[in-house]
Amino acid sequence: MRQTTTNSPIFVVQLLLALCWMLGSHSCGYAQVAKPADLEVESDSSGGDAEIVVSQEAADIHSRSYVFDGHNDLPWLIRQEASMSFGNFDIAQRQTDSHTDIPRLREGGVGAQFWSVYVPAHTAESGKSHQMTIEQIQIVKAMVKKYPDTFAFALTTSDIEEARKLNKIASLIGVEGGHSIENSIGKLQRLFELGARYMTLTHSDTLDWADSCSDEAKSGGLSEFGREVVKEMNRLGMLVDISHVSPDTMQDAIDTSSAPVIFSHSSAAGIADHPRNVPDEILRQLPNDGGVVMVNFYSGFVVPESAANTRTMFERGRELRAKYGDDEEAIRKETAIYRRRHPVLPGTIHDVADHIDHIVKVAGIDHVGIGSDYDGIGTVPKGLEDVASYPNLTQVLVDRGYSESDIHKIMSGNILRVIKAAEAVAAEMRN
Ligand SMILES: [Zn+2]
Repeated sequence: MRQTTTNSPIFVVQLLLALCWMLGSHSCGYAQVAKPADLEVESDSSGGDAEIVVSQEAADIHSRSYVFDGHNDLPWLIRQEASMSFGNFDIAQRQTDSHTDIPRLREGGVGAQFWSVYVPAHTAESGKSHQMTIEQIQIVKAMVKKYPDTFAFALTTSDIEEARKLNKIASLIGVEGGHSIENSIGKLQRLFELGARYMTLTHSDTLDWADSCSDEAKSGGLSEFGREVVKEMNRLGMLVDISHVSPDTMQDAIDTSSAPVIFSHSSAAGIADHPRNVPDEILRQLPNDGGVVMVNFYSGFVVPESAANTRTMFERGRELRAKYGDDEEAIRKETAIYRRRHPVLPGTIHDVADHIDHIVKVAGIDHVGIGSDYDGIGTVPKGLEDVASYPNLTQVLVDRGYSESDIHKIMSGNILRVIKAAEAVAAEMRN
């Protein structure tokens, strides 16, 4: 169970940053790690009891494979709250102000992780997106270097398999938002060279070449240049991530990409109606496409009542920034009032399992994975408090009748298959 200490320096910094991120600038969910007290929601206000006891059977099933999570925002936390240094936030020690540290990654059975090198979409306005993204990549590389017994940098599926043999956590890089390439194929290639192995086509804002799910449409999906970006990603061997994009962009990406697509951290709109979730019409195309939806754990996306209350969160963030500029106090007050009226109820691990069930029902067992969004989100469901919680999910899946091989597909097998397919496409296109 993650706890926050209100008098710690980290908490104070987090409090301020949480406010900034609520303005639509933060990576994924609503508020970051620690939430302002006046936005707290009673944790038992939704969903009932979710105390999960992991049986020996489930623990064994979990330990015979590993978790390959599609999205973790620890690098952004290290930038914002630790001056970009693991010397200031030692993840070898158990931390109370984050979802992620090494002891809990080990408890959770994490064997591979896409580390998000997110930078806010508004950094594009000052021309800083690309450079800041490179700095975020350097944070991931610094992490691997500082903790060499735990992490291994991975670019390919053979790197991942090699890391697993050494019991290390294969560490891959995912770029969150096409603003990071600043409309340049050359900058896309540069990010690939530095190790990026997926790019989410947009974040919260519509780009010149791709529409976001949380902004006005410009191209009605992908522009001509947007399709060029996707084709170049195929050629390079970089996964096309269509979390955060509009349904039209999802469709254009599926139609354009020669390799299977991924949703690195999205859930199912059929369960919780939120623009960040994947519509059934898209899910139905995944068997043909081969892609995978890696389910997001943020309560604001997965709990139906909470999704109703966060549906316009990115748009509201932009509006408040336009209204108040840098007046963080005014923004904080207005946000707090809004959030009290429209709370994010935490829900439980069973809400997340409902999304998995739905994706399995509509798309099939080969098209679902895990993309927690840990350390990019504030409110999390009971039973999924942090990176140590994944075995709870295995228990719930066992309880729901999933076989061991199905659970292994969800935890890591499906995303590994998709990366292999993308590698094969890239090899063919380069020949
Ligand atoms: Zn996100």
